[in-house]
Amino acid sequence: MSGEGDRPATKLANAGRRKEWTRGIVNPPVWRASTILFDDVAHLRASARNPDAGLYYGRRGTPTQWALAEALTELEPGAAGTVLHSSGAQAVATCLLALLGPGDDLLMVDSAYEPTRAVCGGILKKIGVTTRFYDPQLGADEVAALFTDRTKAVFLESPGSLTFEVQDVPGIAAKAREAGIASLIDNTWATSLFLPAIARGVDIAITACTKYVGGHSDLMLGATTARAGFFEKIRKMSQSLGQIVGPDDASLALRGLRTMELRLRAHEAGALKVARWLEAQPQVGVVLHPALDSCPGHDLWRRDFLGSSGLFSFSLLDTDETGRARFIDGLRHFGIGYSWGGYESLALPIDPAPIRTARPWAGKGAFVRLHIGLEDADDLIEDLAAGFARLEN
Ligand SMILES: *Cc1c(COP(=O)(O)O)cnc(C)c1O
Repeated sequence: MSGEGDRPATKLANAGRRKEWTRGIVNPPVWRASTILFDDVAHLRASARNPDAGLYYGRRGTPTQWALAEALTELEPGAAGTVLHSSGAQAVATCLLALLGPGDDLLMVDSAYEPTRAVCGGILKKIGVTTRFYDPQLGADEVAALFTDRTKAVFLESPGSLTFEVQDVPGIAAKAREAGIASLIDNTWATSLFLPAIARGVDIAITACTKYVGGHSDLMLGATTARAGFFEKIRKMSQSLGQIVGPDDASLALRGLRTMELRLRAHEAGALKVARWLEAQPQVGVVLHPALDSCPGHDLWRRDFLGSSGLFSFSLLDTDETGRARFIDGLRHFGIGYSWGGYESLALPIDPAPIRTARPWAGKGAFVRLHIGLEDADDLIEDLAAGFARLEN
């Protein structure tokens, strides 16, 4: 186990490795279980009084899942616990279902991950929850001005999916707290290493561990790390939905976690090098990367974040759909795919306009989202340069 005052890299090496779970082995073993056998009826009865205290039923997990949950909690100072989910999307849906009911109002950031928007227009609408989308560039006072008696939760994603606006996370969280409204953040881009969200005042931090925690594009997993009160509520909803993460996936995520800081720092360095190079290219309109001045909310990023990860977008000037496809299709080192956070680079054509409703998306040109993997950035830059040359012919 890691200690309270340890630095994040030290926590990553030690977190979740309780002696009682590892028995002297370095890594928590993979415990596969459905049935748990009790010594006698008295033990069975005692276990049923507190089923989350130890082995009880496969659906409540084994030391493999508990080790991962504990490790993720240790990375978020101020958190009471972590609930694991079978995907990041399931984490989002479970949290919103845990907090909201008929007649309630949700404030959702307009730059949210698209499947998050789909939860609002789907199951939440069906149970009588209204969603109002707000512009990611609103300040804390402007978001607070939207609160009504029915508002029960405000959802942030910073930086936003596709367009990377950075929000005033501590400011909005503080306003929500004053008003008795729950604050949630989708913290997948930064992870708790680059944005310790709970320490910044947020109640509930959601991470798609599919991305940087796993880090190798071979697993689906989500996590919700929350303050006391919220953690128990979300755990209860998760249990009533019958959710469980397999021990093999939990074990893979634990393995990924051990190298997460090293990988994030490498993604950061590679992405910054590529982003700064892109800024200087005449065919590029804008580069949307929180660590660059040109990104909306850059000052907030500098104030609140401890680093930047490998995902950002840029626009191609004077390029139509066909040209953008020619640019992307010919890249040698970039795969074409959605789920990012692995060691490999990706390029994706993106069109934010149709999914923005709070304020029309004003970006001009054909946008491309890049994930910068762990390859040598100079190889990636040569690849992109060849792409620009293709556009000229
Ligand atoms: C990928 C992603 C999710 C969903 O995670 P899955 O594990 O793929 O369901 C949620 N939020 C953000 C910001 C993401 O990028």
